[in-house]
Amino acid sequence: MINILGKIMNLGEIVKVALIYYLIYLITLIIHELGHAIVAKLNGMNFKIFIGNKNKKVLLDTKYIRIYRTFLPSGFCQYYSKGDKSYDILSLFNKSLLILGGVLFNFVIVLILLLVINFLKMSNQYALVSDALLNANIAFIILNLIPCKFDGRYSDGLRLINYYRNRKVS
Ligand SMILES: [Zn+2]
Repeated sequence: MINILGKIMNLGEIVKVALIYYLIYLITLIIHELGHAIVAKLNGMNFKIFIGNKNKKVLLDTKYIRIYRTFLPSGFCQYYSKGDKSYDILSLFNKSLLILGGVLFNFVIVLILLLVINFLKMSNQYALVSDALLNANIAFIILNLIPCKFDGRYSDGLRLINYYRNRKVS
């Protein structure tokens, strides 16, 4: 038995909670990258989502997603022109939306979860998952907006700042 933040948990429960949080991290990462992908699609662009470290072995490679074998992966959504729909002709607002698509989708999930948590009476088991998913999405919004370099990639906050400084997105 180990006492964590006033809760007594045995080893089995700790492993279970760690596993749930790990899966929730991966799900939240996918939600975030899907947000970028949806905005890209709405703008008539093509996209490809990359999950994990590009120096690692490729686990899955399809038209829309490539997954590298990485234990704690970060993500990246690449957009590219489709036919005559060039990235360059997108408006300033739409280019900003592309950068913010990930956190916007995380925000939509936060709103949905708040509604679900408030209106549904959930058992402890489901409440643990929904609370963790809520917190993970809030954390993703905050962390992605902090202007920094992470895992060799620019955060969305830094990309937005660079974009308005140089009018180009790296
Ligand atoms: Zn992002």
